[in-house]
Amino acid sequence: MNNHRFNGSLITHLVCSKCNTFFNHQVVQTFATCCNVPLSAEYDLRNQSIKEIIANDYSMWRYHFALPILDSSNIVSLNEGYTPISHLNKLSNQLSLNALYLKDESVNPTGSFKARGLSMGVSKAKELGIKRMVIPTAGNAGGAMSAYCAKAGIEATVVMPKHTADTLKEECRLYGANLIQMDGLIDLCGKKAREIAASTGAFDMSTMKEPYRLEGKKTLGYEIAEQFNWELPDIIVYPAGGGTGLIGIWKAFKELVSMGAVKGLLPKMVLVQSVECSPMVHLFNDGQLPINYSPKPSAALGLAVPYPFATAMMLAVLKESNGIALTVTEEEMEMGVEAIAKIEGVLLSPEGAATYKATQKLFELGWVKNTDKVLLVNTGSWYKYR
Ligand SMILES: *Cc1c(COP(=O)(O)O)cnc(C)c1O
Repeated sequence: MNNHRFNGSLITHLVCSKCNTFFNHQVVQTFATCCNVPLSAEYDLRNQSIKEIIANDYSMWRYHFALPILDSSNIVSLNEGYTPISHLNKLSNQLSLNALYLKDESVNPTGSFKARGLSMGVSKAKELGIKRMVIPTAGNAGGAMSAYCAKAGIEATVVMPKHTADTLKEECRLYGANLIQMDGLIDLCGKKAREIAASTGAFDMSTMKEPYRLEGKKTLGYEIAEQFNWELPDIIVYPAGGGTGLIGIWKAFKELVSMGAVKGLLPKMVLVQSVECSPMVHLFNDGQLPINYSPKPSAALGLAVPYPFATAMMLAVLKESNGIALTVTEEEMEMGVEAIAKIEGVLLSPEGAATYKATQKLFELGWVKNTDKVLLVNTGSWYKYR
């Protein structure tokens, strides 16, 4: 029994992700005013031993030492995180891959990995005394924020595209949030959220503009490392929208390296988007969006983010990890959902299925080798998209 478990945060400050200017974490912050880019939380992890510092808690809060909440009584938790990793042995065989794994985030509270980010964002908002908040969402983030705000007693407003599935709207209402519906994609919802924030004083929880949702998503990386016994997979395939998961997983790995907790090469990070809306794939391949760029909705709601805020951070992850970005079609995602359901008995969200189809393509191209240990991230539940 280890009775020396640490229960606190080693956060020191926030930095501008471009110029490294320091910002104070003890007051409300949004993005960096110097460079108009996301802020990133920094911790003093020197001389810490990962195995001794993990809290005796079976949720993402087991990594509290590397999370920004100073007083544990401010934690707003519905037991998010600590999700399973399964070996997809039948699919591995079918693809002649050595080892294909699935991190299943669909079992999180509110049915998606948005729970990690919003548990963190709402906890920090509570700690900083915020009483109202507003969020633009493709669907899952709105439900998650509504649930955590209900638990925290914070007033929530959710701005969502009208075309979003009814389940995603209805859960917001049930959690007591104000729901506003817009014609268009999440960028228009973001504009509306900014107006609401300006006119009502509500705090804007937009992806990567608020600094702490990233810290929640980061726990995915800590879990992956711990679940693989501190030996990371070769390749991680991630369906990206605003990019918090991709950036967060990578941030976790770098923090773990700084503590000496993981060794060897870090995984190559693969970013997957729908061909209907793939700004990051354009930016990765061509350095710019096409002249006739016309993003459209996708069945993978979480991926339809036409103008993400953290583009530079996502590209940096792909570059540092020797990763790659690619698209899949709507039809491929649909086929992916069915194929995995039939052979492995699990229903993935379209976003999760996209990671499988992307892996298949990369294998055919020879980019994924049959000796690679590959991890897919199923970011949400199929059942919410009805
Ligand atoms: C939001 C979301 C994504 C994209 O996540 P980001 O962190 O914004 O890149 C992927 N899948 C699902 C199910 C989502 O809800």
